[in-house]
Amino acid sequence: MDIYFYNTLTKTKEKFLPLENNTVRIYSCGPTVYKDATIGNMKSYIFMDTLRRTLKYNGYNLKHAMNITDVGHLVSDGDEGEDKMVKAAKEEKKSPLEIAAYYTKKFLDDFDKLNIDRPEIICKATDHIQEMQEFVQKLLNNGYAYETSTAIYFDVSKLDTYGILSGIDLRNQKAGARVEIDEEKRNPYDFALWIKAPKEHLMKWESPWGLCYPGWHIECSTMSNKYLGEQFDIHTGGIDLVPTHHENEIAQSKGANGKIPAKFWMHCEFLLINGGKMSKSLGNTYLVQDLIDRGYEALAYKMLCFTSHYRNKLNFTWEALENSQNGLNRLREGYQKHANGTEEIDDKKIEEYKNKFLTAINDDLNIPVAMSVVWEVIKNPIKSKKIAELLIDFDKILGIDIDKIVEKIEIPEEIKILLEERNFARQNKNWALSDELRDKLKEKGYLVKDSKEGTTIEKI
Ligand code: AMP
Ligand code: ZN
Repeated sequence: MDIYFYNTLTKTKEKFLPLENNTVRIYSCGPTVYKDATIGNMKSYIFMDTLRRTLKYNGYNLKHAMNITDVGHLVSDGDEGEDKMVKAAKEEKKSPLEIAAYYTKKFLDDFDKLNIDRPEIICKATDHIQEMQEFVQKLLNNGYAYETSTAIYFDVSKLDTYGILSGIDLRNQKAGARVEIDEEKRNPYDFALWIKAPKEHLMKWESPWGLCYPGWHIECSTMSNKYLGEQFDIHTGGIDLVPTHHENEIAQSKGANGKIPAKFWMHCEFLLINGGKMSKSLGNTYLVQDLIDRGYEALAYKMLCFTSHYRNKLNFTWEALENSQNGLNRLREGYQKHANGTEEIDDKKIEEYKNKFLTAINDDLNIPVAMSVVWEVIKNPIKSKKIAELLIDFDKILGIDIDKIVEKIEIPEEIKILLEERNFARQNKNWALSDELRDKLKEKGYLVKDSKEGTTIEKI
């Protein structure tokens, strides 16, 4: 069956075929590992996971690289401010490498919790300093870069177009809020490839231009070129990467190799929280662990992401997560009914379901439609093992452990009474008694958690 993906480059849904043989080469922009990844970040990687699984399901082999940014991403996405890694290292009183190792591990732990299939190649910027330097040298040799007292800059005026993904010629924009005016820059939108390090800078490497560190964009051009070649099939990332990071990756690759590096550019829309932005100041930057701490499964969040198409914004609320957790439980209960079923179902019906599901995922990863097929299958009154097998097959795409047995925790009467007493104490603002009862419940093996949405209980 044909596969269609929406391509940000052409702004149309196009038929997908790999550039070479049966192997699809993909590059995904990975995390900047200076802090915990949020559930917003994870929306983009759940999309990446679905893409991987869909291509595999269609019989393709994958060669997929994802970078880990452990140097060079400055506080502003322009070339301003401190390096995010260095800033975090100073704040946490650790070395940048320690910070990177700590958050990389946590990031990949979240992948495991969400059943996100890992790319074949996971590559760190700091392991590719030499190659990046060679890439910068190539751009200088080709006349696309120039040196100033502070950096090596990319000269955007040398390109035929700059802004091909965004659909606007960025060079015609006036420098203003987004771009600071540096006297030495030839054009306001020129961006840093290689930055000369101030004396006290923590991360810096010897180079023909003195002690330097890389700009943010050069790592992705260098590593994609190294692992996947000058041109590969698909490039992915979050939608925010379009106007800066990805335009600059295209600029760099055109300057070095004369080519746009990827044929398809696929972008995931943002996650909103209660209809607004996720921000530290609003206290709503939730992590996967925060959801688990409130008694939800990480996979309930994956289910929530499946309620909207990856190119649409998704609104996170605790109520929506609760619904997704309930939905996940119902799916698994439904699966068990079929797994234990003894009735026969027509093979034609199974084929029909399979086709409907495949048509949905091959239509630009239309998971909401694919999920409606899953529900239709679950609800089939004929309880048959063949249906259970089909659901296991669908789970190759979804990765939600559909065959997991839902444990219903029976709360003993004694615990229920303690909980009621505690609720009463809280209503009367008797915090001392409430804490005492919480400890008592803990001793009996039950963890009580309070939040704005109410109290939950978990078995320890
Ligand atoms: P970062 O670690 O900030 O470089 O981001 C890692 C990835 O997560 C990038 O592809 C971002 O575009 C993506 N991302 C960041 N915030 C969100 C969000 N709220 N919703 C979806 N994707 C996001
Ligand atoms: Zn990137």
